[in-house]
Amino acid sequence: MMEPKHASELNSIIGDSSRVILDPLVVEQLSRDFYWYSPVLRKQLDGKLGDVVVQPLNAEEIQKILRYCHANSLPVTARGSGTGNYGQAVPLQGGVVLDLARMDRIEKIHPDGVAVCQPGVRLGVLENEARKVGWELRCYPSTIIKASVGGFLGGGSGGIGSVAHGGLRDFQTVRAIEVFTMEPEPRIVFHDGEAVHEILHAWGTNGIITRIWLALTPAVEWSQCVVAFETFAAAYNFSETIANGPEWTKRLVTTFEWPIPSFFTPVLEYAPDGKALIFFMIAANQCAALEDSARESGGTVRFAGKYLGLHARPLLSDYTWNHTTLWAMRSDDAYTYLQCGFNPDTVREQMRQLRERFGQEILFHMEFMKNGEGRVIPGAIPLVYYTTEERLNEMIDFCREIGVFVANPHVNNVEGGGRYRADNVQLLAKVRYDPKGLLNPGKMITFHSESAATGATQK
Ligand code: FAD
Repeated sequence: MMEPKHASELNSIIGDSSRVILDPLVVEQLSRDFYWYSPVLRKQLDGKLGDVVVQPLNAEEIQKILRYCHANSLPVTARGSGTGNYGQAVPLQGGVVLDLARMDRIEKIHPDGVAVCQPGVRLGVLENEARKVGWELRCYPSTIIKASVGGFLGGGSGGIGSVAHGGLRDFQTVRAIEVFTMEPEPRIVFHDGEAVHEILHAWGTNGIITRIWLALTPAVEWSQCVVAFETFAAAYNFSETIANGPEWTKRLVTTFEWPIPSFFTPVLEYAPDGKALIFFMIAANQCAALEDSARESGGTVRFAGKYLGLHARPLLSDYTWNHTTLWAMRSDDAYTYLQCGFNPDTVREQMRQLRERFGQEILFHMEFMKNGEGRVIPGAIPLVYYTTEERLNEMIDFCREIGVFVANPHVNNVEGGGRYRADNVQLLAKVRYDPKGLLNPGKMITFHSESAATGATQK
């Protein structure tokens, strides 16, 4: 528990008491994210709270806050919109929740398609503004409307658009980042080129992102399309053809086995009983060809229409990526999920083995994602019917045994989640920028074990 004097001091530093929040309800709300997707993390993180929420408006305020927190050894946990899934933004040791939502200015969208913005800009706002000048996001999470750019860089990986443009970390999508360090005199460090990887997906443990240069892609007129197939195998075959075919301009190719579509209550009219479904975002001028091709392959087109932006109804992306899990949990809260990468050459055999071993405890929800080498990989966010932690771990182990990559969403540290870089650049940046270990403490476990080994202060 933080001493009350610190809140008063932060108040005088900021000079605006409305942005130094102690109201327990607000502090609780802004200390949480979507960690409860995981029954394992729910047990670990329920009740973990910051002591105070501070809402800076600019870099100068961030610098003053960090300087004070460093001097007084107060933990600081950055927060965008709190839509992360692994307790990324949940403070483990109290302290300051640094809510960056008010730093939400798009500074510029350059004619060459690079947006420069503050961390609190919502991805949906950036997408809408970019489209006005002929650009759009290369990839975005299904939480686009709420999620922030800073939070996406700090904790996200990819999503809609990744089938064509890869993940956030690929193809120099993040051109540059400015971060504040947590040192006696916090300073801004500019990262570009390969150096952005020191900061990406580090969960705010090694710097506070204050400015971002994000590469966009030329805007496309999109259509949305839903196709049903008798069997999951037929649906998967068709979706794979479209995802892999360079002639198709696509933003989303998501395949669900039954009964997953039965969880999508607002769009049940497109989900015939017992059938597998594919949700597409496809270039509007290719939609008719896609429909023809789907029918030739035995599919039934259940919906097709021009995409009218993020307020479109239906908005198919609302049922894809990790939104699928949310719909399943609404139907039965025993559902949870895994994040997998299948081998494109043996994916059918891998799925067969999983079905044989775990039956309906695992339900296939496939997403396609281009990897850094330009190959489209069948990713998956399968639903898991949770019974015990042992059984969940058995499933993860079995996936790995048969060559399915798992980024484990049931752990609360950067390293365990599977997106940690083997070259340790995130850890090395933490050692440089946050030597006291005050930024989101407890989330980069290699730092804490190293500092324990060298006798450095542990937070
Ligand atoms: P937050 O949750 O606020 O923060 C995420 C992490 O970044 C935290 O560790 C936080 O400390 C850190 N952080 C935030 N701001 C800063 C900053 N300025 N400087 C340094 N660190 C910072 N993710 C995907 O990648 N793809 C998906 O398709 C996807 N779908 C989702 C669907 C649902 C229904 C849900 C609940 C989550 C989904 N997610 C997905 C996870 C999450 O929505 C995204 O990663 C999102 O981009 C996080 O943004 P945020 O602003 O909410 O970040």
